[in-house]
Amino acid sequence: MWELIVGVLLGAVATVVVLRRTTRPSAPEVVEDASPKEDVANSNESLEALVDALPMGIVVVGKDGQVRFRNNAMSTVTGTRHVDVLVEAATERLIDRALVGKERREEIQLAGPPIRVLEVHAVPLNDGGALALVEDITERWRIDQVRTDFVANVSHELKTPVGAISVLAETLEGETEDELILRLTGRMVLETQRMSRTIDDLLELSRIELGGEALYTGVDMNAVITEVLERVSSLAAKKKVEIVVEQPTNSTLVTGDFFQLTSAIGNLVENAIKYSDTDSTIEVRLRDGSHSMLDVEVEDHGIGIPAESLDRIFERFYRVDRARSRGTGGTGLGLSIVRHVATNHGGEVNVRSREGEGSVFILSIPRVRATS
Ligand code: ADP
Repeated sequence: MWELIVGVLLGAVATVVVLRRTTRPSAPEVVEDASPKEDVANSNESLEALVDALPMGIVVVGKDGQVRFRNNAMSTVTGTRHVDVLVEAATERLIDRALVGKERREEIQLAGPPIRVLEVHAVPLNDGGALALVEDITERWRIDQVRTDFVANVSHELKTPVGAISVLAETLEGETEDELILRLTGRMVLETQRMSRTIDDLLELSRIELGGEALYTGVDMNAVITEVLERVSSLAAKKKVEIVVEQPTNSTLVTGDFFQLTSAIGNLVENAIKYSDTDSTIEVRLRDGSHSMLDVEVEDHGIGIPAESLDRIFERFYRVDRARSRGTGGTGLGLSIVRHVATNHGGEVNVRSREGEGSVFILSIPRVRATS
């Protein structure tokens, strides 16, 4: 039986283990060593230990339907008694099918929180028996889910401006009134810019997510802030927003990637401007954080964020108020970029906010470690 388990588990990997099962795992057929019995016992024990250590439950039944083997991981994978019952029922059902030659898979979703997803997979064996594998596929399932949601979100985000441009173009067709033509083309330009911003942010997010080009060196956060201020100067001037920078007297060096840090702090400052009223002030502070971090605080006195949205604003495409975000030209991707940059740097981003009073975003990045 061992050769069947190993063969099915390793699939394409050539397995040169030839073992035969009696009541307990028994001897390999060819053993050249002087003390064959000891070796057989050792190799069977290590195989049994190996199969027990696999992160999946394994059940083997003979062609009579009797369980011939069940590894210890079976109970670890299922966890609770309630789950155990569900998994047992699915395993039995699928093994029955495998015993008549049909390979079957079934997903069991366990409503959380947190949600767990197990997969039972039963295959017929050459000797007429069947093998069932039970695997916790939660992580794989979650990634698939994120990918599917992401594709749906991107399609939706791009479809909206493309739809608007199409309607505007149709209206424009055959139009002779100069003033109307000017208004329609103006709106078309705005929609195109919107689409282009979404694509730019998506590209930036994917570059930061992949992290391939990141260059982690000693970066002076003062230089990052100077660069950011330059980038946002026209937006700030347009809104008559004053940006006050408070710098500490001690070191502002962190271990990081200049491009990523500029992108993250740029997004925070841009949001602070976008979600503030005209003639207000924004403070950017560098502070000592905990655990040898340097904290960059970006504080505004704008519209603030409702408490129930605080957990969600870092999700891709999440906006508190879609209509308002449209007006400010938001893509809903800025804070996802900030969160990724924080994670890439081994840091974090936190937020405190009150509706109607304003928000403080705190990006914590590890300082450069002192070298002796
Ligand atoms: P957007 O491009 O829409 O600004 P973000 O990912 O940067 O996307 O932000 C997500 C949402 O969080 C925004 O749509 C907005 O509702 C809210 N938000 C972000 N920063 C602020 C802020 N400083 N003040 C108020 N709301 C904010």
